[in-house]
Amino acid sequence: QKILLLLKEEIPEIEYNRYIKNLIYDTKKSTNDIALFYAPNSLVLNWIKSKYSTKIKHLFEVYNSSKVNVKILLKNQIENKKAETEIKKEQKQQHSLLNPSHTFDNFMVGGSNQFAYAAVKSVSEKPGILYNPLFIHGGVGLGKTHLMQAAGNVFKNQGKIVIYTTVEQFLNDFIRHVRNKTMERFQEKYRKCDVLLIDDIQFLSNKEGIQEEFFHTFEALKGVGKQIILTADKHPKKIAGLEKRLQSRFEHGLVADIQPPELETKIAIIENKCKINKVVLTKDIINYIATVIESNVREIEGILSKLHAYSQLMHVDIDLQFTKNVLKDQLQENRANLTLDIITQNVAKDLNIKPSEIRSKGRSKNLVYARRIAIYLCRELTQNTMPQLAQYFGMKDHTAISHTLKKINELIQNDEDFKIKIEELTNKITSSS
Ligand code: ADP
Ligand code: MG
Repeated sequence: QKILLLLKEEIPEIEYNRYIKNLIYDTKKSTNDIALFYAPNSLVLNWIKSKYSTKIKHLFEVYNSSKVNVKILLKNQIENKKAETEIKKEQKQQHSLLNPSHTFDNFMVGGSNQFAYAAVKSVSEKPGILYNPLFIHGGVGLGKTHLMQAAGNVFKNQGKIVIYTTVEQFLNDFIRHVRNKTMERFQEKYRKCDVLLIDDIQFLSNKEGIQEEFFHTFEALKGVGKQIILTADKHPKKIAGLEKRLQSRFEHGLVADIQPPELETKIAIIENKCKINKVVLTKDIINYIATVIESNVREIEGILSKLHAYSQLMHVDIDLQFTKNVLKDQLQENRANLTLDIITQNVAKDLNIKPSEIRSKGRSKNLVYARRIAIYLCRELTQNTMPQLAQYFGMKDHTAISHTLKKINELIQNDEDFKIKIEELTNKITSSS
């Protein structure tokens, strides 16, 4: 400060105010030999360098009675460096979101998931070349996140920068950077990764702002051949409120679906989880669990850990009867919280109509269809009586309900697609509770 004031006496005031005043002296990094200044922009920097650096150097020598090297740097250079470090740090943090046990080895392959498995596996071997983006879709708990992260782990172990995020986290991150006015940092972080994995794309639905941002991220990465993997609970075509340009880009690479696992795959999954979690189960118990749990693999995991915990705490061996009791609890627990409103909302959302329409008197084909499904699921998943359901759905009496249930049961028996649809909905609703 003293040196700059000395300088003020020697030069025109206007120049002092325009240039010298804006110099920042780095007290931390300067030493006895080096005096470090930051200039706010290159204009000031060049001006001072050419006109005053010798003078400043001179004043230092007079003041310190020793030789000093005067260094003037651009302030932005420092800030850019800082931002870069910050971006690297944030990218590294994303790595910790990859679950290390989500590997290809731990993923049991069967007819239901073979196609998706093969697609993700080949992308993990040749990123950015084969299918970009790779879009995996399927119901809850069928292994979408597991597969996607298995590829992520392969890339991570090769030293690549992998960003794994859900749409929800992407959105929160976006909001945080907008708030902190560090949007460039946000954009760089996502646009300068080697692989981008985005989970649960369906949550982009009807969020225009984030769709816009995501579109540009997508284009930037795709443009330079960086691999993108996406998952959703449905095909991109079926995600309501998704911009056309995004939808068509999502379909442009490869779209692969995962179906609910068949019995053998479920058995293999249970055996594998037992091995990982060091739980010993007999063949008949494994078969029993695989038959009772329809499809959601996450539910299977919950049951295994419950069985394990109970047997440890109560010092009993896990036998079939014990397993049956635990499973009964689990299934009831899943369903205890379900209300008619929750079920109706879920059905409405899935079929893209308003919950109020389901309960209205509307007779259009799709409303009647949705209403029948809702009634069926309410009957299956709650303890409500037929008169209670009739009242809730605005029907004349319990015979109307029983007629509906009969219709749906017939459909389930005769139409395999419909049966799967109902199973998926049941899973979705019970796992959301
Ligand atoms: P999704 O993302 O489709 O909802 P997840 O990938 O989270 O499902 O899977 C739920 C759980 O089930 C995870 O712990 C996962 O490891 C396990 N899982 C699902 N499918 C398989 C499979 N084929 N083999 C082994 N584990 C599986
Ligand atoms: Mg998932």
